[in-house]
Amino acid sequence: MQSREFQLSQFVAGFWRLADWQISTTELITIIERYIELGVSSMDHADIYGGYQCEALFGEALALQPSLRDQIQLISKCGIQLVTDKTPDTYLNHYDTSRQHIIQSAEASLQNLQTDHLDLLLIHRPDPLMNADEVASAFEHLYQQGKVRHFGVSNFSPQQFELLQSRMSQKLVCNQVEISPLNMTTLHDGTLEHCQQHNLAPMAWSCLGGGNIFDASDPQSLRLRAVLETIADEVNAENISQVIYAWVLALPSKPHPIIGSGNMSRIESAVRSEQITLTRQQWFSIWQASTGHGVP
Ligand code: NAP
Repeated sequence: MQSREFQLSQFVAGFWRLADWQISTTELITIIERYIELGVSSMDHADIYGGYQCEALFGEALALQPSLRDQIQLISKCGIQLVTDKTPDTYLNHYDTSRQHIIQSAEASLQNLQTDHLDLLLIHRPDPLMNADEVASAFEHLYQQGKVRHFGVSNFSPQQFELLQSRMSQKLVCNQVEISPLNMTTLHDGTLEHCQQHNLAPMAWSCLGGGNIFDASDPQSLRLRAVLETIADEVNAENISQVIYAWVLALPSKPHPIIGSGNMSRIESAVRSEQITLTRQQWFSIWQASTGHGVP
């Protein structure tokens, strides 16, 4: 069940690429304020984004404009350890879902984001060494201390989700997964059916394939662009991104697409795609362009 108290905005703002945008704190505040005006109040982060830099950049914006904090939900993730200048003891990238790592990571996120609580903390990737009791214990500790209000996972299979859920006293509220015409795995491996079954509206990452949909020249991307452009004309969409978001929003698990752009007009256009409805045939034309064959 989705927790009654926790509600994501229909679109989520993604800050994975924030360090690449090369913008000032004032410009970031303008983006956050515009997101709020557009009804996009859920903000997606992870400890590792930008080589552990992005949360601190966002935190500077919150420190400069503290009134923003109560208007947004802060989401972060943990469970990946990267080799960077800031992690001298780490010689290879690896997962770490130990109790100690989860607590330390969440506390570092709070410090970097300059806030006293996260609204939602996710385990970033399934970890073959994940001990579900340890994760549940770390979550309970963070909850009891008032540092994290809700918990979820990312890129988990239904089995991995259920394992962790079985050890927790509170409900996991989300699975954040990849959903894109370029990668339809979660549409066919039971992940989205599991979300639908439990009313866990998934967050959808890289809906636009991380931007690859616009310029990749592999056969799948070429087929998709041609079909998306035809449908964009048919439904009077502003661009093919809007058609992709409409295609994601049509899924019955009711995904919340995460917008990854740092470009204001693209952000605004993405949010307007909520008004576009695809016919079943248009939806399956995109499915067919993705797979390269018709339905069996
Ligand atoms: P995306 O929307 O698939 O890709 C965004 C990229 O596409 C940006 O670089 C953007 O550039 C580019 N783009 C958008 N419109 C374009 C256009 N018309 N022409 C050319 N380029 C265009 O999303 P994403 O950034 O990959 O992922 C979104 C969010 O999902 C991330 O910020 C992160 O919060 C989350 N995420 C989670 C996971 C996970 O494992 N849980 C993994 C990946 C991402 P501009 O900025 O120039 O518009």
